[in-house]
Amino acid sequence: MQAAILNDLTKCIGCGACAAACKQTNNLPKGKARSLDAYTWTYVDYRADTFVRRMCMHCLEPACVSVCPVGALHKTESGAVDYAPAKCFGCRYCVMACPFDIPKYQWDKQLPITQKCIMCHEKKLLHGEQPACTSVCPTGATLFGDRGDLIAEARRRIGENPDRYVKHIYGLHEAGGTSVLYVSGIPFDRLGFKVEVKEGPYPELTWAALSKVPHVLGFGCAFLFGVSWVINRRMQIAAEEGTPSDPKAPIREPKNHAGGDEQS
Ligand code: SF4
Ligand code: SF4
Repeated sequence: MQAAILNDLTKCIGCGACAAACKQTNNLPKGKARSLDAYTWTYVDYRADTFVRRMCMHCLEPACVSVCPVGALHKTESGAVDYAPAKCFGCRYCVMACPFDIPKYQWDKQLPITQKCIMCHEKKLLHGEQPACTSVCPTGATLFGDRGDLIAEARRRIGENPDRYVKHIYGLHEAGGTSVLYVSGIPFDRLGFKVEVKEGPYPELTWAALSKVPHVLGFGCAFLFGVSWVINRRMQIAAEEGTPSDPKAPIREPKNHAGGDEQS
């Protein structure tokens, strides 16, 4: 099974249960957000009288995975694009490479990393459960299932209700296809979707594009830069705190998966 999520925007009532479940399951700070950030992996936007859930698209051929120099991101067999925060050193190549502008940086941290939706891979999918967000939706606006089955369901809904839906499954071909799909009653360009995203996969393009960024000199430089940055930053923090620093000490782990502080 290729795990996937179908978001039917004609059914969303904007209750935010999906976003709240995501924060609870992934130990993210609570609170309503109006955009994705390092501690908000999904939220419900409102455009053109339509509630629009935003989240990682879990690309079939993810650009973020292809550019990560330390393998912190990887496409799992289940279909989720998972993320290992302990490996990430915050180079932000994934932020630059993602055609959907999804990974977000921890601007508030002394040792920042990037964060995004991981489709509840370790906490749910590996245990045979569906993601937290899809399990709580009261209207069936966000469905979990096999990608092929969800595409068939999307086609059925559009075919049987041509007046209710635009004739487009967003994610079917965008960026080479994604594991998160959308159907809508309003054209996607009016809902803030990136309709300029090309249909083929991005990984080959991203390295070509990144190589033109002046400060990106390649994998080796990126890695050395990251290690150097972490060591220097640790020594700087130690100096500020007045404690001795060992550059060979393990890199400090985030408190929880999100690296954020729990709020009530
Ligand atoms: S939407 Fe962006 S972050 Fe998510 S899998 Fe695709 S490239 Fe990676
Ligand atoms: S799949 Fe999991 S991590 Fe992704 S938005 Fe839903 S609850 Fe959050």
